[in-house]
Amino acid sequence: MEEIVKLSLKSENDCFLIREVNRHVAKAKNCVIITRAGISCSAGIPDFISSDGLYNMIKSQYPGVFRSGKDLFDVQLLRTHDTIKGFNLFMGILKELIVNAKPTATHSFIKKLTDMKKLKRVYTQNIDNLEELVGLDIDWQFERVKNCKAQVVQLHGMLSKLRCNACTNICPFTPQYCDIFKKGKAPNCPKCEERKNTRAK
Ligand SMILES: [Zn+2]
Repeated sequence: MEEIVKLSLKSENDCFLIREVNRHVAKAKNCVIITRAGISCSAGIPDFISSDGLYNMIKSQYPGVFRSGKDLFDVQLLRTHDTIKGFNLFMGILKELIVNAKPTATHSFIKKLTDMKKLKRVYTQNIDNLEELVGLDIDWQFERVKNCKAQVVQLHGMLSKLRCNACTNICPFTPQYCDIFKKGKAPNCPKCEERKNTRAK
């Protein structure tokens, strides 16, 4: 029988809810978990929408440029220099937080379910790849979900890779790129640079 358990733990001391999780997990054969930003907050990655979240941080740094956090993910932002700069800054800050983050107790709990052979899949809004650090496989290409074999599907993509807007080349988003993004700029694509140099020669 399928049972959907929606739990929102406000604190790790919320014993009643933790007991509920325990009870449901103990009798379940297969578990599918859906997670949001909250599971990474204690790793130092703020969520997007809280008063001290990432959206408000960018709004305060770029007053008048972004009306709401959602503007950061609107194609319109590619129209002005200021909004592109704000987007790049946002990505630089977020990536740096991710680089310094360690998996939380929730990530360890998910790993435990895998070890118990109960985990069917995790679907997450998060793009921090912290599940990878506890040894889970991650896929981020939404269109592949149907035939996906990965244990974790990051529905909103990931920040471990960068895709070039001009040639679609994908390269690793290394911590070295954080400083460029934090200046509001985007790094040059290695493939485009290579082609430019070949043409120049
Ligand atoms: Zn390129």
